[in-house]
Amino acid sequence: MEPSPLELPADTVQRIASELRCHPTDERVALRLDEEDKLRHFREYFYIPKKQDLPPIDLSLVDKEEDAIYFSGNSLGLQPKKVKTYLEEELDKWAKMGAYGHDIGKRPWITGDETILGLMTDIVGANKKEIALMNGLTVNLHLLLLSFFKPTPKRYKILLEAKAFPSDHYAIESQLQLHGLQIEKSMRIIKPREGEETLRMEDIIEVIENEGDSIAVILFSGVHFYTGQLFNIPAITKAGQAKGCFVGFDLAHAVGNVELYLHDWGVDFACWCSYKYLNSGAGGLAGAFVHEKHAYSIKPALVGWFGHELSTRFKMDNKLQLIPGITGFRISNPPILLVCSLQASLEIFTQATMKALRRKSILLTGYLEYMIKQYYSQDRAETKKTAVNIITPSSIEDRGCQLTLTFSVPMKQVFQELQKRGVVCDKREPNGIRVAPVPLYNSFHDIYKFINLLTSALDSAESKN
Ligand SMILES: *Cc1c(COP(=O)(O)O)cnc(C)c1O
Repeated sequence: MEPSPLELPADTVQRIASELRCHPTDERVALRLDEEDKLRHFREYFYIPKKQDLPPIDLSLVDKEEDAIYFSGNSLGLQPKKVKTYLEEELDKWAKMGAYGHDIGKRPWITGDETILGLMTDIVGANKKEIALMNGLTVNLHLLLLSFFKPTPKRYKILLEAKAFPSDHYAIESQLQLHGLQIEKSMRIIKPREGEETLRMEDIIEVIENEGDSIAVILFSGVHFYTGQLFNIPAITKAGQAKGCFVGFDLAHAVGNVELYLHDWGVDFACWCSYKYLNSGAGGLAGAFVHEKHAYSIKPALVGWFGHELSTRFKMDNKLQLIPGITGFRISNPPILLVCSLQASLEIFTQATMKALRRKSILLTGYLEYMIKQYYSQDRAETKKTAVNIITPSSIEDRGCQLTLTFSVPMKQVFQELQKRGVVCDKREPNGIRVAPVPLYNSFHDIYKFINLLTSALDSAESKN
């Protein structure tokens, strides 16, 4: 039977279990979910690491031929098999024709970034003129802040969430310093309530309403890197703009993870990297967005020759004809090898579509949450077993694919035991382990196997205490 789009993940799991006449935690449920998954063939488009090749593996604990349980797509996405082909095409071209490659072939190097722009539009919900593929994420954040953050004596703050990613935090601090502002007065950080891990929307809106007149820029992440909380981008945008603030987002953990409609939401600016859910490889080509409404009013503060109109760029007459909008923010010629790896991944997204990926993702992560609750809820503490707590919001609208787990024992040991067993995830201070099942290449069976390995890891960690 087809699941209804409105069915909650836990209900789907229970429905399938009752169809199969087994317990919801039975392996057959995972296998059935995989059978019914219309996106399952996309796993074949990626290299899945083998357990035997992972540096921390303990070969006495695993079947070495087995695929790793790769739940680190939020940190570095896996390699699409096509990357090598596309890289070789450009390396060959370079070898055979040198500088002629600038203008010729599938990806003329001069417009290399533009050849793949159309693959990004649906992922972020913007048109081509609103997106540029350039630089790294933090560089783009700086370039955007240089144009959007114009403090005045009355409006001088940047509003952000607590425990923002360090690079964003430093970028904001240094931007404030660049304008001679005092960080304590100008960097407005919203913290969760005492005893809570994630932010409440009503608290964010309240700060915007109370202090909006003194806030120049609101800069939030789309999905928080540590807690996995998905912020309500359209609501924050609307509330901020009603107070006259510019509203921008760092979408590092949101892009390729949740559906985005930057244009329709009226977001002022955004930036993202492409090596996490977008699988472009470490240091891949980052993205930036400036809404069309600002195309002629917001200009780049720092300009280079790739911001000049293509038709006259190579006249070299030093009379700048700036391309309107974000396209004019491009400074240097595009790195073609980075275009290749990003293209290989984005083509898969185009085939799969964000809508279908998100739908699978909700069920995949919902299944993981269901299994964790079944096996490791708090009442285990009474039986002296380790309890596993999920700090990521439980409601579907408030999270993407990642769950952040905390433990009633020190997380370091649990993490090491997971690594030895071929689970790739990461630990983040203070005490979280982040697991991100990615709908493009993770399966429901991966989750089933993860739960077994987690049980074994917890048993082992407990026996050592
Ligand atoms: C991953 C990440 C970064 C990394 O920045 P780079 O410039 O790509 O090194 C920055 N900010 C956030 C929120 C991130 O998640």
